[in-house]
Amino acid sequence: MQQLIQRLIRYAKIDTRSDETSNTIPTTQSQVDFAMMLVQELTDIGLSDVAYNKDNGFVTATLPSNMEQEVDTIGFIAHMDTADFNSKNIKPRVIESYDGKDIVLNEKENIVMSPDMFPNLSDYIDHTLIVTDGLTLLGADDKAGISEIIEAMIYLSEHPEIPHGKVRIAFGPDEEIGQGADNFDAQGFGAKFAYTVDGSRLGELEYECFNAASAVVTLTGVSVHPGTAKDKMINTSKLAFEFDQQLPQDEVPEKTEGYEGFYLLHDMENTIGHGKMIYIIRDHDRVKFEARKQHLLDIAHKMNESYGQEVVSVTLSDSYYNMAEIIKQDMTPVNVAKEAMKNCGIEPVIQPIRGGTDGSKISYMGIPTPNIFTGGENFHGQYEFVSGQNMLKAKETIVEIIKVVATQNT
Ligand SMILES: [Zn+2]
Repeated sequence: MQQLIQRLIRYAKIDTRSDETSNTIPTTQSQVDFAMMLVQELTDIGLSDVAYNKDNGFVTATLPSNMEQEVDTIGFIAHMDTADFNSKNIKPRVIESYDGKDIVLNEKENIVMSPDMFPNLSDYIDHTLIVTDGLTLLGADDKAGISEIIEAMIYLSEHPEIPHGKVRIAFGPDEEIGQGADNFDAQGFGAKFAYTVDGSRLGELEYECFNAASAVVTLTGVSVHPGTAKDKMINTSKLAFEFDQQLPQDEVPEKTEGYEGFYLLHDMENTIGHGKMIYIIRDHDRVKFEARKQHLLDIAHKMNESYGQEVVSVTLSDSYYNMAEIIKQDMTPVNVAKEAMKNCGIEPVIQPIRGGTDGSKISYMGIPTPNIFTGGENFHGQYEFVSGQNMLKAKETIVEIIKVVATQNT
């Protein structure tokens, strides 16, 4: 466990935040630097085919099979970037055998992580926790995943008596801004199925995610001096209210859970004459997802008719789809992970993701890719932490998945 924790801390200290406004691949140079470091380390461990692909920013490597018979090649994937939150000067701190009380993250700034605010902390009594200094995120999302995959590869390299098939690993950029997997080389990766190691709590196993789209609503008004505006002015701010009022007011993120979809008004800017709103649309069900998009078009159509001119136009673009549509065709990857977790004494917790993963895109590229836990919690902010014990469980789950695949094929 110490080895895992030390690896995570070493990686966490490196600032690898992605940048939505950048057009390079990866979006930040720091991710390239981190990738180069990983290439060196994977080579030192003795993995084969270690490569950095500069066209897509992925680091890939192979643990060759040590069996005579053909066994399915499987893959493990994690991401190098961290979320849109302060990542400068990350100072991970280890808390040995957590006592269940308040954790003072930063005494000077009086930043405290308390079980009142985060009742989940009660699950971690006696655990070794890695926390932040309250000013940055930790980046266990997803450097815990990277560390667990690498430690699993080291374990198997050091235990040649454990039979295993070929294992491919990939560390990608820009997951947090939803772009990283767009250029993933699925054919080059060559796995029958894979797992992203990018989940949270112990036992998480996810193979359903949202269908996702964004809508840019462009509003065109008429700007006239207010003193002479009667029967002439069309104020786009009013158009924006009118448009949003026609959406189901309970179908928003703050009022939905489980399989309930939503519309989120993400951004808006308006002058009197010109306006723009950006919505994101999410639904697990493809039919309902398509209906949500159509609903936006219908509202625009109705408003244009009533104004007798085009005051609203909607441009839709799909971001990713629910990977369950692919994975449900052959549940082997899910069943293997379930069996592996049970072998490790972990109760699988299967739930729909209210978001997406790199696995959603990669599944649609032909490699079914569910998501498994890393052991971290409170991702994307200063209260992020990870349990050393659960990181170890994640590493064991990875090793066990590889073992299960080896025995299933023989
Ligand atoms: Zn992540």
